[in-house]
Amino acid sequence: MVAAQTQTTHKNFKGIEKTVFGRGSFSQLDEILAPRRGDNEGYFVFIVDNYFKGKPLEERVPVHAEDLTYYISVEEHEPTTEQIDQLRDEILAKKGLPSGVVGIGGGSIMDIAKALSLMLTNEGSSTLYQGLNLIKKPGVYHVGVPTISGTGAEVSMTAVLTGPVKKLGLKCEWTVFNQVVLDPELIASVPRNWWFYTGMDTYIHCVESENGRMNNAYSHAYAEQAMKLCREVYLGEQSGQTPENDDKLMVASLMGGLSLTYSEVGVCHALSYGLSKILGTRHCYANCLIMNHLEDYYPEGVAEFKQMVAYHQIDLPQGLANEWDDETITKMAHVSYNLPHMWLHAIGDNWQEVITIDVLKDLFRRL
Ligand code: NAD
Ligand code: ZN
Repeated sequence: MVAAQTQTTHKNFKGIEKTVFGRGSFSQLDEILAPRRGDNEGYFVFIVDNYFKGKPLEERVPVHAEDLTYYISVEEHEPTTEQIDQLRDEILAKKGLPSGVVGIGGGSIMDIAKALSLMLTNEGSSTLYQGLNLIKKPGVYHVGVPTISGTGAEVSMTAVLTGPVKKLGLKCEWTVFNQVVLDPELIASVPRNWWFYTGMDTYIHCVESENGRMNNAYSHAYAEQAMKLCREVYLGEQSGQTPENDDKLMVASLMGGLSLTYSEVGVCHALSYGLSKILGTRHCYANCLIMNHLEDYYPEGVAEFKQMVAYHQIDLPQGLANEWDDETITKMAHVSYNLPHMWLHAIGDNWQEVITIDVLKDLFRRL
């Protein structure tokens, strides 16, 4: 009977190993990497958002002569399995196993850096590893330097990739960054609409984490603080893209991510995955489009979300579903239905009595 008693009932998560936070902390990156430069073939790979090409930050990336730097555009699509496989093959063929990977960019670049670190040491295509604990070996040392705040990708144990079959993360303990550098100066240039959508991802993480059966004192403490910070950043006279608010948003993103790690996301994210997988809609934007119509599930959260939308005069289009045929909506509903961990959290054990494909199709038709 001992076996039954030792069954895991509580999540046991690994966190980021080291975190530096503060304005200008990006300047410490070279010093942070120095002790690792002797590892493996003795060079670093920098994955930098193409937005920074030609910007002042480019000059500040601590690239040494032996290092490889890739400027990657994330405008066209979110990270794909094919993209990671190609990058991995190219890097290994050029110089062998690097000392580490450094990602400098938004959630997309965070995911590319995390996935690349793992795929440099795990053979075959990354499609083989989409899911929980499928990765066989630890990846190389990896560092995240977020330049947009909100997704929590800097702290999460998943690297979300879109593959031919699934949009699903490489999720395991080794995915988590060894080091993050949180420098709020880096998010100052984020365009206003992205600043809003991505910040709302944090707010929605908290609403969903709080409203469901996985919520607990630990996840609640993070969510409560992150929501307080979001209110300061997005509501009221002091709201907007100011240095003080950038500091707060960067911390909110981290705490929102931790909250959902110890709890779970819910209805909005389940639907958002359906929309993103079938139509390629970007994660944070998709969440905003959906949150706008979830008052039945999260009345208080949706009311406050709408206040923030109105305050910043963000234009969230309506009537999108008029353009979608039944087949498209059915496909989206199936992707969303297939996320039982989210439904169990948001609705409970009887979720299948409450959430049916038809209910999901009706929700998508509201968009
Ligand atoms: P993003 O990385 O997709 O970037 C959005 C846009 O902002 C891009 O055009 C980018 O070039 C630009 N940009 C980035 N930093 C900038 C800066 N400082 N100044 C000006 N422009 C800048 O944005 P995101 O919303 O942070 O990330 C979305 C991605 O994160 C999706 O791929 C999603 O799947 C993923 N995601 C991952 C997790 C996770 O836990 N791993 C969680 C949620 C979302
Ligand atoms: Zn999210």
